[in-house]
Amino acid sequence: MNLDLLAIAAHPDDVELTCGGTLLKMAQRGYKTGILDLTAGEMGTRGTPETRAREAERAAKLLSVKWRGILGVPDSDVQPSRQHKLRLATMIRELRPKTVILPYWEARHPDHYHASTLGYEACCLACLKQLPIEGEAYRPFKILYSISYADARPTFVVDITAQYEQRRKAILAFASQFRPRKSEKKGKVHLAIDRLEMEMNQLARHYGQMIGVNYGEPFLQEELMKVEDVVKMEVRSI
Ligand SMILES: [Zn+2]
Repeated sequence: MNLDLLAIAAHPDDVELTCGGTLLKMAQRGYKTGILDLTAGEMGTRGTPETRAREAERAAKLLSVKWRGILGVPDSDVQPSRQHKLRLATMIRELRPKTVILPYWEARHPDHYHASTLGYEACCLACLKQLPIEGEAYRPFKILYSISYADARPTFVVDITAQYEQRRKAILAFASQFRPRKSEKKGKVHLAIDRLEMEMNQLARHYGQMIGVNYGEPFLQEELMKVEDVVKMEVRSI
């Protein structure tokens, strides 16, 4: 596939909520982007896997991604086990992404922090020639961590002001997760739609403000940023 950018996360809708704007922005720049959901989200109390699959497809269209797939790890069992790592490494060899976005390695939901470790270790394994899996050995160039919901300071923020509205639509495509069924009281939904709207607006505004724009998505990379021209650096200090 030779993707330019692949976002990997535990459940369908995780990517939309954490880095959907960035994916769309990169697609608009002409990059080939993709989303890999590790699970089908079948343990969620709301929405059947079929509904979520339809929603995921709609969201992917809204974000102009070239490829979206499910790895097939059982929901609530995302762990860096040998079996899952080999499966993911095989997928990485197929997709050959230059840059990979992973969830941050600290989170409340075990699936989320395990997805981070599983993703990192599978990227490392994918380049081992002797590994007993299909495909040509491949090593992604860059790993970024999306930290929208994490208690960590970003190393950079992507300006998604122009993509914010479309990202909002992509998130709301997952209606089954955020809208109460007719038989239910609104308060029963873990993250009701009105609160979700408020939260995603606040978060994107918060990170946008850090770089002097309306809306932003935060990322962390473990390497240092290399700078050639300190006179042309962006984001005003005073
Ligand atoms: Zn999730």
